[in-house]
Amino acid sequence: METNAKKRVLITGAAGFLGSHLCDRFIGDGYRVVAMDNLITGRLKNIEHLFKNENFEFYNHDVSKFIHVSGPLDFILHFASPASPIDYLKIPIQTLKVGSLGIHNCLGLAKAKGARVLIASTSEVYGDPTVHPQNEDYWGNVNPVGPRGVYDEAKRFQEAITMAYHNFHGIETRIVRIFNTYGPRMRLNDGRVLPAFIGQALRGEDLTIFGDGSQTRSFCYVEDLIEGIVRLLHSDYALPVNIGNPDEITISDFAEEIIKLTQTNQKVIYKDLPVDDPKQRQPDITRAKKLLNWEPKVSREEGLKITYDYFKSLTEEELLQTEHNDFDKFIIR
Ligand code: UDP
Repeated sequence: METNAKKRVLITGAAGFLGSHLCDRFIGDGYRVVAMDNLITGRLKNIEHLFKNENFEFYNHDVSKFIHVSGPLDFILHFASPASPIDYLKIPIQTLKVGSLGIHNCLGLAKAKGARVLIASTSEVYGDPTVHPQNEDYWGNVNPVGPRGVYDEAKRFQEAITMAYHNFHGIETRIVRIFNTYGPRMRLNDGRVLPAFIGQALRGEDLTIFGDGSQTRSFCYVEDLIEGIVRLLHSDYALPVNIGNPDEITISDFAEEIIKLTQTNQKVIYKDLPVDDPKQRQPDITRAKKLLNWEPKVSREEGLKITYDYFKSLTEEELLQTEHNDFDKFIIR
C-alpha cells in the first residue's frame, strides 16, 4: 500500500453507518483520512476507535456550510445525508441542503484541490420503478412533491451537479447508486426495516410489516458495498454505477427470516404502507460486474448473523431508544 501512504481523503458523513466503514477501510489501506460530520444522524461512537490514529482527523462540521480543509486532498467522498425514510421525513430541509449545498461545497473544494469526487447516490433515484430490475439507463419514476421527494430529488440534483462539474470544469467524478445496505453500526432506531425488525424481536415486540409485505427489497452486506465503492473510485468511469446485491426478497419473507434468526416467536402485525413506498427494488449489476469486476460475496444468511450479533451486543439503553419507531407520527400515509 506504499503508493497510498501519502494520499489524503475527505469523507463527509464520516460518523454515519457507511461513512464510518469507509473511514476504517481507507485508514486500513494506509490513507490519511479527514472525517467530517455534523452528527445529526451520525454518532461519534462509530469512529471513536480511530481518534488515536495519527492518520485520522475529525471535524464536527455541517458540509452544507462552506468547507475549509487545509493541505492537499486527493479524494472527496460525499456520504453526508440522512438516509432512512424516517430521518428524512423528520429533517427534510437538512436533507435537501446536504444533497444540494453540501455537494456544491464538495465540488468547489475538489476544484480548488484537484481532487476526485465520489458521491453517494441511491436506488431512490429510480423512485417506485416501472422497470425491473433497475439498470443505470432507467430514468426513474419519482414523485417530487411526495414525502420521499426531499431525499430522491436531492440525490437526483446531486447527480446532475456532479455531471455538470465533470463536463464543464473537467473534474474527475464518480457516482455510486447504492441499494439497500445493512450491517453493524446501523442505528437500531433509524426506522429502516432491518434494524426495526431486529429491534422489535430483541424487545419482544411484534414485527411491523407495512402494507401486505409483498413489496421487495434486495439487501447488500456493508463489506461488499464498500469494496464496490473503492473499486469505482479507482476506475475511470464517470457515469452512475449501481452497487447492491441482486438477491431480492419480499418484506414478508424477510420478516420470517428475522424471526428464524432471532429464534423468537414474535408475530407479524400489519400497518398501512407509507405513501410512495417502492413496490419492488432489485439492482441490475451488469455494469459493476463488467467495469469493476465486482459482485457481492456475502450471503444474506451470513451477513444477517454478523449484524444480529452486533445488535445483541448493544446496551439495554440503546435497545430501548425507539423514538423513531413511532412511525405513525412521521410517515404520511
Ligand atoms: N418496512 C416495514 N416495516 C418496518 C419498516 C419498514 O414493512 O418496520 C418496509 C417499508 O415500508 C419498505 C421496506 O420495508 O417497503 C424497506 O423499508 P426501509 O425503510 O428499510 O427502506 P426503503 O428501502 O423503503 O428506503
